[in-house]
Amino acid sequence: MSLTTEILYGKPVSLQLRQELKNEISNLSNLGIIPGLAVVLVGEDAASQVYVRSKSRAFKKMACFSETFNLPENTSETELCLLIDELNASSKFHGILVQLPLPAHLDSKKITRRILSRKDVDGFHPLNVGLLLEGQPQFISCTPHGILKLMAYYGIKTNGKHAVIVGRSNIVGKPMFALLAEKMEYGNSTVTICHTGTVDLSRYTSMADILIVASGMPGLITGNMISEGVHIIDVGINRIKDNSEKGYRLVGDVDYESILGIAGSITPVPGGVGPLTITMLLYNTVLAAKNIRP
Ligand code: NDP
Repeated sequence: MSLTTEILYGKPVSLQLRQELKNEISNLSNLGIIPGLAVVLVGEDAASQVYVRSKSRAFKKMACFSETFNLPENTSETELCLLIDELNASSKFHGILVQLPLPAHLDSKKITRRILSRKDVDGFHPLNVGLLLEGQPQFISCTPHGILKLMAYYGIKTNGKHAVIVGRSNIVGKPMFALLAEKMEYGNSTVTICHTGTVDLSRYTSMADILIVASGMPGLITGNMISEGVHIIDVGINRIKDNSEKGYRLVGDVDYESILGIAGSITPVPGGVGPLTITMLLYNTVLAAKNIRP
């Protein structure tokens, strides 16, 4: 008998978190502090432009300040580093974000390290990664942090569960692993992390109580790879060409139709994890602003 798969929308979670943040933003505003974010965008990547616009809209809506610095595709590493140095020194910006991916001639690791760790609201600086691994996080990478908040909101327990993560990127897979393995209420899972070196992926996905998929491969996970009742977080955002006005539609890494009736729950794409990533960016920027409060 098939079960009803619950759809885990990100919007209500995001609204609740933003309501909590509003109070903090208003407290800061009473002290004359407006949380400020500098977004650096290099080149013309269409998806990056969409993300940057959404971030800027969200900051405006929440009475926070954000400014986007658009640099041409051929910007040199020296030019980009000089801009980051200026932003590091500016008191207007509590957070700095360099939109990834960067053009191939720029070393994203080097650029990430140039941002002061206390302004690294993406949580990618080695110091912030290390603090997360130590269990003393300062800034937690936004997408994995948002996923924890989403699971907490929907009452998905992680304690003692087997969580399987597909993808080991520094942005999603690895910080997700660190959070879920941590001895805390919304961690304490046994965690398996899969990647392209994994032999027989379905052997692991079928053993998951919680399955987090961040592979960037549309439809990678299908109904025959999962067990009944598994909670699925589909992180993937993939553009598939179609005949619509936009010329594409967004799909996740999970073959949505085939898991319905088997999975206990799943986040939709779009409308699942996506809205939370931006909310957690606001959260980190507010945190950065609170940290400099006199
Ligand atoms: P990366 O390309 O950096 O990493 C993908 C990971 O998936 C790699 O570790 C790769 O393995 C693994 N992988 C790829 N194919 C397979 C496969 N067939 N079997 C097993 N593992 C596989 O991607 P990101 O982590 O940056 O992003 C993943 C997806 O999430 C993308 O679609 C991205 O757009 C989306 N995303 C969504 C966000 C949101 O806000 N919702 C935020 C960030 C990302 P290996 O290491 O061996 O190459």
